[in-house]
Amino acid sequence: MANEIIIMNTNLNMSRIKVLLVDDDEDDYIFTRDLLSEVEGKIYEVNWEKSYAAALEAISHKQYDIYLFDYRLGEHTGLDLLREALKAGCTAPIILITGQGDHEVDIAAMNAGAADYLYKGEMTANLLDRSIRYAIRHKMAEDSILRMAYYDSLTGLPNRALFNDRLKQTLAHSERYSSTSAVMFIDLDNFKRINDTLEHRVGDLLLMGVAKRLSAYIRSSDTVARQSPQTITNTVARLGGDEFIVLLTEIESMQNAATVSNRILNIISQPFTLDNHEVHVTASIGIALYPSDGTDTDSLLKNADTAMYHAKEHGKNNFQFYKHSMNASALERLTMENDLRRAIDREEFVLYYQPRVDILSGKISGLEALVRWQHPQKGLVSPMEFIPVAEETGLIVPIGEWVLKAACRQNQEWQKAGLLHMPLTISVNISGHQFRQENLIKIIEKVLGDYGLGQGCLEIEITESVVMKNADTTISMMNELKKMGVRLSMDDFGTGYSSFSYLKRFPLDNIKIDRSFINDITEKNEDKAIVRAIIAMAHNLQLTVIAEGVETGQQLALLKEMGCDEMQGYLFSRPLTSDGIYQLCTEKREIPALKNL
Ligand code: C2E
Ligand code: MG
Ligand code: MG
Repeated sequence: MANEIIIMNTNLNMSRIKVLLVDDDEDDYIFTRDLLSEVEGKIYEVNWEKSYAAALEAISHKQYDIYLFDYRLGEHTGLDLLREALKAGCTAPIILITGQGDHEVDIAAMNAGAADYLYKGEMTANLLDRSIRYAIRHKMAEDSILRMAYYDSLTGLPNRALFNDRLKQTLAHSERYSSTSAVMFIDLDNFKRINDTLEHRVGDLLLMGVAKRLSAYIRSSDTVARQSPQTITNTVARLGGDEFIVLLTEIESMQNAATVSNRILNIISQPFTLDNHEVHVTASIGIALYPSDGTDTDSLLKNADTAMYHAKEHGKNNFQFYKHSMNASALERLTMENDLRRAIDREEFVLYYQPRVDILSGKISGLEALVRWQHPQKGLVSPMEFIPVAEETGLIVPIGEWVLKAACRQNQEWQKAGLLHMPLTISVNISGHQFRQENLIKIIEKVLGDYGLGQGCLEIEITESVVMKNADTTISMMNELKKMGVRLSMDDFGTGYSSFSYLKRFPLDNIKIDRSFINDITEKNEDKAIVRAIIAMAHNLQLTVIAEGVETGQQLALLKEMGCDEMQGYLFSRPLTSDGIYQLCTEKREIPALKNL
């Protein structure tokens, strides 16, 4: 990339120096090689390229510590090659060699960036050796000045000047290839407090730690957020204080920036152990996108900064896009993801319980735990709205774990209070994402132990798609659960593709016929036939059948006639809070319509 500030490898070992000589005359090569072999310690390894094109190719591999270019290279000159090499990002010093002295060429070579200019006639082993060493030393000194000017001395990350430079190049590149880039402004949330309460040294260590995590992640995320394998790279820089900035180049959509931000929030919030202190820190991130939020460096930086302040106002530990880049629905979705993350920390969820009733006896046979989100602004949010986002983002794992614990804790409480019969079965819905977590069994085992729940107290509801996806592992997990006394239920039955022969393989206790079949069961003969067939076949497999979404007495009467075992639906009760359930059970109410059947 043109004009990139690149620093040569300063760990250069001066006891072994790799030289590339570019000269169209083999005799001259042999002469130079022999000269360098006279130097004490045999430190030089000399290679030779004859043509201009081959030389450029070799330079692009950046394997040499120094280049010697002959002035005469066929139709080109060594000066042309020098200019071309520098343009291509060559960082090693270049010495130009001519047949005879020419003051004008000498000046031109220096101006073009040559480290030295030597006449073949005067060249001795000592002179050449000295020139090479000086050139390399000089380059190293130059680099260390550059390093000070362009890198942050504490963290080693690029500083603001280098970041601006990279951003400019990225914008030029993005304009040419019509790609999108993101500038992400990251500010640590409680840095000042940490810096004030602990020593400054710990503050420094924290900044170094954050820098390390960020650069490791951004390096590895190159392929995540990348549209095409172009040469332009992502950058992490420190702007000063506790402010960092990330430049994501060539992203596919704003979702990429959101994903990267989420991971960054996650990485930073993992505890740091610094000098025997465990330090917790979070960050706020503001994102501005090229071209929608600005087309020049100043406006992008300003807008990312503004967005970062919105993130702070929004309660910290979250990211915000600069508003221009968002259309309403994308904003809503991303906001939900953001809010969900905080909802988990603040435990903003509540469980409602819906009774399941035995159709013959009219007694409550169990309760299904159904989660709701008590949103600080929006009020009670339905699982239909947030479970899909939670599944997509993996946030369903911590949410599901919360549900499991809360349901089991409630079960223990009710059993202690002597509510309902023993054991009281509470069903919990488990999503596919959770079922693929290897530690699910361990978590369930621990929760059951913690709340002293035995055989049959917990039932897990899974859907057909979960079961079908990875049948063999699912079966072995289900068997483990059965051994622990957990009951298993297939939810929303009929909406997937399970055949009964397939069902036989799973150690299920019951199936729940999806609401969509019950809805029109009294009018549609087709649904009637399906439900009848499901009940018959399930009974054949010794499975209990539960009808979901029973709303009318007619539906119930038909289901009873078909031999359906249990029902769940508004006819008996909507999902209720735990207090509501308590009341319902102490009233010992029966299914109203049952009496009339
Ligand atoms: P589901 O497991 O099939 O739960 C039954 C849904 O049907 C509940 O909706 C319930 O309120 C509703 N329902 C019950 N009886 C009737 C009725 O007579 N008529 C009508 N129209 N609807 C009825 P809810 O609570 O909105 O839950 C929707 C879905 O969200 C659940 O479907 C389940 O798939 C998912 N869900 C709820 N809680 C959790 C959870 O803790 N974890 C997971 N992974 N998913 C959950
Ligand atoms: Mg369910
Ligand atoms: Mg269901």
